Amino acid sequence: MTAPIYMDYNATAPIRTSVIDVVTDAMRVVGNPSSVHAAGRSARKLVEEARAKVAALAGCRTRDVTFCSGGTEANNAVIRGAGAASVIISAIEHDSALAAAKLAGVPVFVCGVDRDGVISQDQLRTLLAESPAPALVSVMLANNETGVIQPIQEIVQIAHECGARLHTDAVQAAGKINIDFNELGADYLTLSSHKVGGSQGVGAIITAPTAPLAPLIAGGGQELGRRSGTENVAGIAGFGVAALEAVDDLGEASRIAAMRDRFEVAVSDHTNTACIISRGAPRTPNTSCVAMPGVKGETQVMHFDLNGICLSSGSACSSGKVKVSHVLSAMGYDEETANASIRVSLGRMTQDSDIDALITAWKSLYDRTADRPLA
Ligand code: PLP
Repeated sequence: MTAPIYMDYNATAPIRTSVIDVVTDAMRVVGNPSSVHAAGRSARKLVEEARAKVAALAGCRTRDVTFCSGGTEANNAVIRGAGAASVIISAIEHDSALAAAKLAGVPVFVCGVDRDGVISQDQLRTLLAESPAPALVSVMLANNETGVIQPIQEIVQIAHECGARLHTDAVQAAGKINIDFNELGADYLTLSSHKVGGSQGVGAIITAPTAPLAPLIAGGGQELGRRSGTENVAGIAGFGVAALEAVDDLGEASRIAAMRDRFEVAVSDHTNTACIISRGAPRTPNTSCVAMPGVKGETQVMHFDLNGICLSSGSACSSGKVKVSHVLSAMGYDEETANASIRVSLGRMTQDSDIDALITAWKSLYDRTADRPLA
């Protein structure tokens, strides 16, 4: 049996062989990084080397990197720990950010996006004027479903003019576009290891020197008191290597974008009834969100799976129920279109022949089913 073609990098990227090697070696290192003896110092060295590599990926100072258990924790830590009097959050954030805002214990205001999924700066200004100060504005750098990149520098400027701080979830931007925390001017930035080819269950919070962060997890005071708990040394060491290689991957961006564009051109040449979401907006090079009218996303996912291709539907499935994508809904798509979308997310191992298979499978499903509701 041939290995499936993996096109779900935004869900998780295949772990890098180098990461497996480093994680395996790190697991053999005895020692708690907080111990002062030689064994402890060996573990500490691994953590600090990784911190420098993650800082290089994010374009920040090494000491501003706090390790944690992943993007979900990082978003919770910032949104609940920034000490803001209100939270202004974009409607298209990841569930981890939206759920954290509800738990922040302060008023929450949701900022809308346009049809392309780009945040409304006018609405942001209005919300900033109305919300209790100081506010925390949370807007992701790149969206997981559409790949749309937000103009974070402009958003930072608007937020700062009103005395607000800005958090950007860069989980889906890392390794796909260049990230420079200092240049962005953000106060907080969050990352996840498994989206850049590291292992799952590791992440990082980047904080500007003046940005407060009340710890979400209290205890022994690790990570400068910002995140207690003995560090996941092996996972962090792997994150470091993944971060380093993710920076090199940026050189692959044009090759990946060309493959993504070839798929989209093949779709639009085949039919004008399919909808390529956010095609006109700045996007990460690897992501394509396409609705095939009349064909449910889950049906499409099953069809591609039967054809040996792993990808996701725009709608999410939780507790046995299919939930309409809040991202596409916020962009103004009706429920039927939102439910008929798939997300193709490519990565460093994607080859041209994979795109050929994707196009063939997409066309065969379209020709059989499009515009005819499926059971
Ligand atoms: N933020 C975004 C934009 C994501 O896409 C994800 C994961 O899909 C997360 C946060 C959560 O990251 P993790 O899986 O590391 O908890």
